[in-house]
Amino acid sequence: MTALLIIVAAIAMAWILAYHRRSAPLWTACFAIGLGLVTAYSGWSRTLIVVLWVVLATLALFFNPTPVRRLLLGMPLLGLFRRILPQVSQTEQEALDAGTVWWDGELFSGRPDWAKLLAYPRPTLSAEERAFLGGPVEELCGMVNDWQITHELQDLPPHVWQYIKDRGFLGMIIPKRYGGLGFSALAHSEVVMKLSTRSGTVAVSVMVPNSLGPAELLLHYGTEEQKNHYLPRLAKGLEMPCFALTSPEAGSDAGAIPDFGIVCRGQWEGREVLGIRLTWEKRYITLGPVATLLGLAFRLYDPDGILGGEKNLGITLALIPTKTPGVHIGRRHLPLNQAFMNGPNWGKDVFVPMDCVIGGLAYVGQGWKMLVNCLAAGRSISLPAASTASAKMGALTTGAYGRVRQQFRLSVGRFEGVEEAIARIGGNAYIMEAARVMTAGAIDLGEKPSVISAIVKYHLTERGRQLIIDAMDVHAGKGICMGPSNYLARAYQAAPVAITVEGANILTRTMIIFGQGAIRGHPYVLKEIEATKERNLRKALADFDAAFFGHVAFVASNKARALWMGLTGARFVQAPGDRHTRRYYQQLTRLSSAFAFTADIAMFVLGGALKRRERLSARLGDILSNLYLASCALKRYEDDGRQEDDLPFLHWALADTLWRIEEAFHGFFENLPNRVVAWQLRWLMFPRGREFGPPRDRLGAQVVGLLLAPGPARERLTRGAYIPQAENEPVAILEAALRAVIAAEPIGAKIRQARDTGAISGRYADDMVEEACAKGVITQEEKAAMDRAKNLRRKAIMVDDFPKDLGKTEIYQTTEPVTFEALRRSAAAGKA
Ligand SMILES: Cc1cc2nc3c(=O)[nH]c(=O)nc-3n(C[C@H](O)[C@H](O)[C@H](O)COP(=O)(O)OP(=O)(O)OC[C@H]3O[C@@H](n4cnc5c(N)ncnc54)[C@H](O)[C@@H]3O)c2cc1C
Repeated sequence: MTALLIIVAAIAMAWILAYHRRSAPLWTACFAIGLGLVTAYSGWSRTLIVVLWVVLATLALFFNPTPVRRLLLGMPLLGLFRRILPQVSQTEQEALDAGTVWWDGELFSGRPDWAKLLAYPRPTLSAEERAFLGGPVEELCGMVNDWQITHELQDLPPHVWQYIKDRGFLGMIIPKRYGGLGFSALAHSEVVMKLSTRSGTVAVSVMVPNSLGPAELLLHYGTEEQKNHYLPRLAKGLEMPCFALTSPEAGSDAGAIPDFGIVCRGQWEGREVLGIRLTWEKRYITLGPVATLLGLAFRLYDPDGILGGEKNLGITLALIPTKTPGVHIGRRHLPLNQAFMNGPNWGKDVFVPMDCVIGGLAYVGQGWKMLVNCLAAGRSISLPAASTASAKMGALTTGAYGRVRQQFRLSVGRFEGVEEAIARIGGNAYIMEAARVMTAGAIDLGEKPSVISAIVKYHLTERGRQLIIDAMDVHAGKGICMGPSNYLARAYQAAPVAITVEGANILTRTMIIFGQGAIRGHPYVLKEIEATKERNLRKALADFDAAFFGHVAFVASNKARALWMGLTGARFVQAPGDRHTRRYYQQLTRLSSAFAFTADIAMFVLGGALKRRERLSARLGDILSNLYLASCALKRYEDDGRQEDDLPFLHWALADTLWRIEEAFHGFFENLPNRVVAWQLRWLMFPRGREFGPPRDRLGAQVVGLLLAPGPARERLTRGAYIPQAENEPVAILEAALRAVIAAEPIGAKIRQARDTGAISGRYADDMVEEACAKGVITQEEKAAMDRAKNLRRKAIMVDDFPKDLGKTEIYQTTEPVTFEALRRSAAAGKA
């Protein structure tokens, strides 16, 4: 009995020490004290006591950072790791080295420090940035007509291009000292978002020069001369930039570009200079057809050793004026009817001086590193902002349309089937905005969160795609018939563009998020890899010893934590938050431990093969991503001042992310090839079986309630969107119809009641209104409100129709051949 008690006490002590991640010396001290007590009071045989002390001393020797451990365990393990660690290519290594680890590191730790999350300052705009959003951005939104841009002109009208350039839209990331606006990441994101709620084409035309491209690269790597020359010109739109990486044979595998340059001497402006002879073929290049400055990625070779070093110098980036002889700016692509400029370009044996290399000779061959280092900022801002814009407009218009549109004498948004779609819209819009703002805030804190940027790129574009599909489904025919009144269809068309660019989504999910996260975000893996590369044996051994045994303790701790929290439903975990949110913090802490443990086991069992088992890696990435999105939603709730009205959105967001996390875990367990390990993992991580489920129907109905009527929660959900006020604007009509329909509802109820009691007899709605007014059931004002609701509802549900030639003759109104030039001229004349 005593023996059993002692064993149970020892296990409990080990569990507590592991759970709290206590140091090896503390473990040693605790067990030494315990064994001392056993020695003094247990009455066990002297031989057994001596054996136990010997076992403890031996374990202490190996669990503490002693020279013996280093020699007997560390040395052979270091040799083993050097042999078995998968080879990392140079491009992979550069991607791994790029950027910073931020909140993703906490989620990987198995014990996220929620106080840290809540202490991150709430991202805010400066007065100047707010003025820009309320001034030029609002004005630009007001001056554009997306139907004219995408259907009639297939370009921005000239006066819009000019306004964009004159007001500095193309230089938001360029500091003021170079004539740019020097905006924060949040402001940049807000501008792109607001523009996207009005016109995707305008937003992309503004977004691209502010994302990864010439300006960003110059800011980080340009020589002073290059910065002083180009940045002021880019800021004012005197140069139109594009950045060309993708070629027909190298899309996702961008590191494999075949485009090349040869170091040589050649003639430039009448002088012989050192330069590069370039040959390339690029496609899909945004702003390419109108660019004056081509950012080009190519492989540089120095076969004659002119630079005195390697012959294959690696990927290099250059800025080439498009007027350079031999540069061919081809025609245009038409990406899903979006009218932003996009096209191919190429050149053969085009000579440019060495000064064209961004950063000059010092950065020759450094192109890949430069790109991946700069990728995080743009990827964290542009597409998340554009996707969130669709989400906001989808939520705003679908909520209104769901109320205004009636079938079977009921607003369609009240039908349970439609409710399911609208609830998803509300919940997704809340999550997306939360992640957009928190991630932009990270950039403003000086982070370059490479893994998080991949998470928001993938998950916001995917949720955005689902959201716009739901919005289209609810709008049905109204969403499908194209024309100036259709405020959804272009965003629906554009969704796959966001999915494809800046790293196509399948690749981002399956290779990047966990593939990069497991090494970057994990507290020990990168340190272990770096130790194996260290040439100084003494240092390698010390580093490896600390990393490897730290890792072992980390795994043990996560196992103890995940199992305990799984058994207890994480109810004893210390957590911040209020009565609505505390449980979520507890559950996320538990799932973070389970994730950290499962990730380690996956790496241990699969080793280098995990890289190729993309579907397994993707599921681990899904867990990490949803932990991040859930954190963002909780942070938003706090930053917004714990708005009670928003709770249905928050609960939906957390229910959805927790459920997806659990699904991803089970998908992983079900597909792990080692079935014994899979079975154990499932039991250890989810000892009580499945616990989470998709958001409940009743919760969905509450979310829908918030979207089907104007109110503070709906306003907060759609804040930052451009909501036109002019009476003929389709979205303004819909909003007016929503208000009018709501105002008319009690009047309609009064009329129906009068009909039911026989006070009025009219069979048709219009007759009843007349009769009710005539018989004094409703007042003249109430009749006017009914008429107004009827008229606005009719306007809101109508779609465009066109002459049989789809209005071509009417649109173009020109006897000249229809060319873009002619169209631009006619648009400019229209403006004048
Ligand atoms: C409208 C538009 C604008 C663009 N603008 C620019 C620009 O300005 N500059 C520029 O340089 N490029 C630009 N691009 C190119 C863009 O970055 C590429 O389209 C993108 O990298 C994908 O390349 P791809 O289309 O050739 O697809 P592919 O590489 O052919 O991929 C096909 C599919 O395979 C998947 N896949 C590929 N490899 C893997 C893998 N290892 N694991 C899992 N899945 C994988 C991809 O996810 C994708 O689903 C633009 C593209 C478009 C469509």
